[in-house]
Amino acid sequence: MTRRLSLFGATGSVGQSTLDLVRRDGESWRVTVLTANRDVAELAKLAHEFRPEVAVIADEARYPALKAALAGTGIEAAAGADALVEAARRPADLVMAAIVGTAGLAPTMAALEAGTDVALANKEALVSAGALMTATARASGATILPVDSEHNAIFQCLAGGRIEQVRRIILTASGGPFRTMTAEAMAHVTPAQAVAHPNWSMGAKISVDSATMMNKGLELIEAHHLFPVGLDRIEILVHPQSVIHSLVEYVDCSTLAQLGSPDMRIPIASALAWPQRMVTPCAPLDLPAIARLDFEAPDEARFPATALCRAAIAEGGARPAQLNAANETAVAAFLGGRIAFPAIVDTVKRVLDADAPAVPASLQDIFSVDAASRTTAQHFVDQLEHA
Ligand code: NAD
Ligand code: MG
Repeated sequence: MTRRLSLFGATGSVGQSTLDLVRRDGESWRVTVLTANRDVAELAKLAHEFRPEVAVIADEARYPALKAALAGTGIEAAAGADALVEAARRPADLVMAAIVGTAGLAPTMAALEAGTDVALANKEALVSAGALMTATARASGATILPVDSEHNAIFQCLAGGRIEQVRRIILTASGGPFRTMTAEAMAHVTPAQAVAHPNWSMGAKISVDSATMMNKGLELIEAHHLFPVGLDRIEILVHPQSVIHSLVEYVDCSTLAQLGSPDMRIPIASALAWPQRMVTPCAPLDLPAIARLDFEAPDEARFPATALCRAAIAEGGARPAQLNAANETAVAAFLGGRIAFPAIVDTVKRVLDADAPAVPASLQDIFSVDAASRTTAQHFVDQLEHA
């Protein structure tokens, strides 16, 4: 049976891994939508290969270039944020949400509203609007299939019992490239050092988030929305080898874990094929070669981001949206060489301290909080840069 796949964020790390799997299993898939932010050449190349109904470039200024590149193919060219939402409403069997940041929120919501199942990599959308997203999915009957490796692991482990029987969810974290570095040394790390993750090859933003451990904090919020066991039942455990992708402990003290090579194609394949399984080209686990698995408690003094995230989701409302937007702004400033590494989490903290947003009633409210938080964060970044 051929399934229709709409892929948002086709040119990114998760997007490319998804297409690698689709390419190897061409008969099973028909690609309906492909999108990218600015890279017209790469989007057009993928469109020529996968022949979607429509290719969408988010940056409207690049519409003429995309239209020209697709001339004569019969593939529609479209551009802009509204075109992303329109594409997400098109009939599909699965939407892969692999845009980075809250830029992915509107199309993901549109897909869920239309009742389309979503394979969700775009954790920032869930962090910002988790309550709305899960309520929308419940109302339309759409399933959210987690792609983030930890959440995909938990999703798989939850097949071993019922959610009311869970005592603890243990979210594993690699600890990132600075796991053993002193706070003093972290003050001087460069963007190149921060994006060099020891185990995973990923986009720049999530790599920096892994280095600050903000990624694990965002994942805690993500887990809280996806797996309603109560915030105090979700723990973080540092596991430097990234072989165990997370664990679920049941009331009988039986603990299930999901293991695999650190290759995103494994959780992506799990989400693509669910409730079936598909063959992947990934390396099977070689446990004798791995030989040992290490675990340590997270150090929240050197890595304060996880505690900020826990407090933000405990408070709820628009706090996580505010935190996420401040973090996106601060990470971009760090990657642009404007602020030092420790200033990323400091900026997020300052934004959270600066104002308390009202509880959001709609997606529009969340977008307003997101915009205000970016402005405040940018103000702090400017101050630091000119200090
Ligand atoms: P990436 O930077 O490699 O790719 C991001 C994609 O989003 C690209 O296709 C880009 O063109 C598109 N994009 C960026 N800004 C956009 C905008 N403003 N409007 C429309 N499109 C835009 O990122 P990635 O590493 O593939 O991560 C994608 C998402 O998946 C993130 O939310 C990330 O946290 C999550 N995730 C990634 C990994 C991984 O291994 N890379 C693992 C777990 C979760
Ligand atoms: Mg993850």
